[in-house]
Amino acid sequence: MSTQVEETLVLIKPDGVARNLTGEILRRIEAKGYSLVDMKLVQAERSLLAEHYAEHEGKPFYEPLIEFMESGPIVAFRIAGNRVIEGFRALAGTTDPTTAAPGTIRGDLGRDWGVKVQQNLVHGSDSPESATAELALWFD
Ligand code: GDP
Ligand code: MG
Repeated sequence: MSTQVEETLVLIKPDGVARNLTGEILRRIEAKGYSLVDMKLVQAERSLLAEHYAEHEGKPFYEPLIEFMESGPIVAFRIAGNRVIEGFRALAGTTDPTTAAPGTIRGDLGRDWGVKVQQNLVHGSDSPESATAELALWFD
């Protein structure tokens, strides 16, 4: 558990932007002590989303996931801090908003709509390798 300053990619998915939760989610990131390095509002192209979610291609939720991510604007953040990759994943909570722990973004604010894709408000990179690749994809 050594100290390690890292950067990670956070996306506020179209459900989070549409529900006006951008400020609330950024508040939680800043309250935790992470720094905002860069941010932008993006209407993502399918090609960007296909690259971003390449690991899920072929899974039953893949096509609805891409359609959901194309359905409206996304806010992208580059944030920095000690162990921020793991730390933001902990702030976000587990993938399914119904069972995500209370106190997390998904647990407190995410809703299970009974649709084909989990509209779980946020994305956070899951490893140093994916953080590097995803930051390059969304910001460079
Ligand atoms: P994450 O890293 O917690 O975002 O989860 P994954 O990388 O496993 O999946 C990417 C996204 O696909 C999730 O955030 C959900 O929006 C969606 N998703 C993942 N698994 C499922 C699933 O089993 N069913 C449905 N409906 N959607 C899923
Ligand atoms: Mg993931």
